[in-house]
Amino acid sequence: MKCVAFDWQGAIHLGALDADGATVQRFDLPSDVVSEAGVTALIGTDPPPVAETLPLAEVSLRAPIPRPSRNVFCVGKNYHEHAHEFAKSGFDSSAAKGAVPTAPIVFSKVPECVIAPGAAVAIDASVSTAIDYEAELAVIIGKDGRNIRPEDALSHVWGYTIVNDVTARDLQGKHSQWLIGKSQDTFCPMGPCAVTADEIDLSDTTVRCWINGELRQESNTNLLIFDVPTIIAAISNGVTLRAGDVIATGTPAGVGIGFDPPKYLVPGDRVKIEIGGIGVLEHPVEAA
Ligand code: MG
Repeated sequence: MKCVAFDWQGAIHLGALDADGATVQRFDLPSDVVSEAGVTALIGTDPPPVAETLPLAEVSLRAPIPRPSRNVFCVGKNYHEHAHEFAKSGFDSSAAKGAVPTAPIVFSKVPECVIAPGAAVAIDASVSTAIDYEAELAVIIGKDGRNIRPEDALSHVWGYTIVNDVTARDLQGKHSQWLIGKSQDTFCPMGPCAVTADEIDLSDTTVRCWINGELRQESNTNLLIFDVPTIIAAISNGVTLRAGDVIATGTPAGVGIGFDPPKYLVPGDRVKIEIGGIGVLEHPVEAA
């Protein structure tokens, strides 16, 4: 099931996208159940009854989880080719340990930087002039757990979505810890939908990103250095993962910093990310 959160008639609703992508089945849910927690309201429940079918064009999509309840967990340098391109960039404050990490690099983005599909990433040139894109598959946790074993990890997954882990490279390097460079306002476009786990084959899911129509990133989740079970096991090692937590799994090669000279985002750019089985997340880039 492809689940969406959307605004319609002055309130936020949840629904399921139809296969044609043109209509949405609005779920009949009490308004106090649907909130900025978005599709996480569906975790642990049967699909709600359908109230009506709406043309997608008549609703305004929100991020599937408009405001996650905690920071978005993220994994850095999790594809080999990207680990090498980033180590060469000079912005890699983790490079002393080598280009390819021996354990997952985990950082986070504040939940307030999540924005809806189609909403603009805002570039504040007084803050950063090195803003980069990172197309990523994101995991949505569906069941609490601590010290989750890799062999049990996928039973803790509710579903998946797409995020752009937008990054201010200069701030990422300057501050050593990545939180500021990763958490700038608007730096986490998410969507357009969240799919339940049965819709994704982690052994063969394509990840692609275009900037202004130019294909920059093209990879597959079977090339992750640390796969999803390994990531979940690592993060939950003494830290209780909670239903509704979001984990961005890392980006493939082809980010702006990987080019010489770098190809950073500028106002007027258009980012398009496609992940097989989920759909297309597109957004513009504007001056703040
Ligand atoms: Mg990333």
